[in-house]
Parts: sequence; C-alpha cells; structure tokens
Amino acid sequence: MATGTLKIRRRLSVEEYCEGIIKGNRRTLSKALTLAESQKQEDRQLFQEVLQKVMPYTGKSLRIGITGLPGAGKSTLIENAGTMLIGQGHQVAVLAVDPSSAVTGGSILGDKTRMSQLSSMPQAFIRPSPSGHSLGGIAAKTRESILLCEAAGFDIIIVETVGIGQTGAEVYNMTDIFLLMLLTGAGDELQAVKKGISELADIIVINKADGNNEEKAQQMKKSLEQIFDQTNKHGNKNILLHSSLKSNRTEHLLDAISNMQKHKMRSGQFLQKRKTQNLDWMHAEINKLLIQDFYESNIYQSASENYEKQVIEGSCPPALAAKKLLEVYRKGINNF
Ligand code: GDP
Repeated sequence: MATGTLKIRRRLSVEEYCEGIIKGNRRTLSKALTLAESQKQEDRQLFQEVLQKVMPYTGKSLRIGITGLPGAGKSTLIENAGTMLIGQGHQVAVLAVDPSSAVTGGSILGDKTRMSQLSSMPQAFIRPSPSGHSLGGIAAKTRESILLCEAAGFDIIIVETVGIGQTGAEVYNMTDIFLLMLLTGAGDELQAVKKGISELADIIVINKADGNNEEKAQQMKKSLEQIFDQTNKHGNKNILLHSSLKSNRTEHLLDAISNMQKHKMRSGQFLQKRKTQNLDWMHAEINKLLIQDFYESNIYQSASENYEKQVIEGSCPPALAAKKLLEVYRKGINNF
C-alpha cells in the first residue's frame, strides 16, 4: 500500500533566498522569481528585502531584448544563439514578456518545449512570462527577474516578447541592446516604421533570409536602409539578414551584438541608458504607489461617492471633481 507523505512547505528566510541565489541554485532562483510575481503584500515585502540584499551582485550582464511577431523565428534564434553563447562560456537566462499571459493566465512564451536544447543545458535558465498582471505589471516583474538572474550568475539575459507595439517599447526600456526581428512579405517593415519601434531598435534582423526568400530579404534590407537614411534616424542601427538555417549568420549576428555593446560602452551610452532606465523605473513605481495610496485611502472611499454622483448628474465637470477630490485627499493627509 502506498504511503502518502505530507509535504509541508516552509517559507525560506531572506538569508536562505539570498544565499541560494548568489550560489546560482536554480531551485532557489525559481522560488524567488515566483515570490517576485506574487501580489500578496507579505510576499512583496519579503521579496524587496531579498532584492535589496542581492543588489550588489546585479548589473553585470548584457541584457538583450528581442521582439517580433509570432512566427518570426525568435525562439529558434534564441535556441541557436544561446547554445553558441554557452559554448563560449556564458550563462544564459531567457525571460519572456507576454501581455497575452495577463489575459489568458498562461503563457505562450518562454515555454521550455520551444527551446528544448537550450532548456536542457545546465548553463541556461528559461522563464515564462508572469501571468495575471497588466503589461505594466509584467514589465516591472521582468525587470526584477533580470536582477535576480544576474545575482545568480547569468551574464547574458535575453528578454523575448511578441509584437512590435507597446510591449516592444517596454522591452527596449529594460535592455541594453534591442533587436527587432522582421520577415519579408509580412508588411512588418511598414508596421514597424509606422509604430516607431524600428527607431528604437539597435539591430533590425531580417529573418528567414534563405531559399526563395533570400532575394526579397536583400530588397527589404535596401528599402529599410533608404527609409532610415531619408529620415536621418539611422543612428548606429545595423540592418542584418539572418537565417537560422545558416549558423554563420547567427555567429555574425552575435558579433554585431558584441560590437554594438563595445561601441555603447566606449561612448558612455551603455551606462547612461542604464541610469535612465533605473530612474524611469523609480518614477513609474512612485506613480503606481501614489495612485494606489489615493484609491485605497479612507478619504477617497468616503468622499468619492458624492463627487461621482455630481459627475454622473452633470452638475460638476469631471476635471473639477478630480481636482476637488485631490484637494480633499491632500487636506486629509496633512491633518493626519
Ligand atoms: P517565434 O514565434 O518568433 O518564436 O518563431 P519560431 O522560432 O517558433 O519559428 C517559427 C517557424 O519558423 C518554425 O517552424 C521555425 O522552424 C521556422 N524558422 C525559424 N527560423 C527560420 C529561418 O531562419 N528560416 C526558415 N526557413 N524557417 C525558420
């Protein structure tokens, strides 16, 4: 007869979390990332203490962002490039930012089965997008995940996302080098140019430049170069043809990333971008906390009904009601 064992999950202490993470223990790292994703107040508190303690071990990786529509070939590239980087002695973490996970509660990205070779390597770590958060929430968690992975010794962090809109911009804001992956014939280039995401990209990768597609890819490269020359927004942008069927193309892309990193370090852009990102992150947190404070306050709870009624009846303009509510809130805090 099988005997059931009762597993009692003990909460790790701050010290246990930190020690495990710094030693590169994958289980502890996974637990810490789960803690980071928790919305519970006590978990947040514990997590912030852990994060503060491991901060001296963070910041030493190259953070690479990669965005593109589903099917562009991102995970194939990450699988191949990640394996090559590990061959060179690196440790590679792959994190996903997937806004659809907020809706579905699951994640289509970062799924280990998509990068089977890479995920079986001890020097790699693949984490799907946190679910149950808004895009802003997912982005904040991903930023924290980057720091934890760095503290655990990963020196290359790849942040992958789907789409060429707002999510791409979020990933640009948390990485050092940002790659935009496009395909020929998908109308991608026009979309990307329209949405401005191509301006943010350090490297535009025209993927699947193989077989019958090779010539079209060459043409697309030329037309993109012309667009950037005309608008004078070329910057130091690289536009590269890539095919995961040709390993030398992936090596070439990795060289381009490495050269871009060196260039940014020499020019000071690398550190400047990180400083700006940290300050932006702090301000985004302030905004979030202020809004939370306001809506959760007793003052708002008791005063809002009256103002809402006036707005619905049309006896008070919404902007004036908002102003008055904030005045009541401020007065209440000052009297506290
Ligand atoms: P993702 O959704 O962007 O992660 O795309 P995947 O990496 O899953 O690739 C989608 C499909 O395109 C898969 O069937 C891949 O085998 C195929 N694929 C990926 N890269 C290339 C490439 O460079 N050339 C060709 N011909 N097919 C590719």
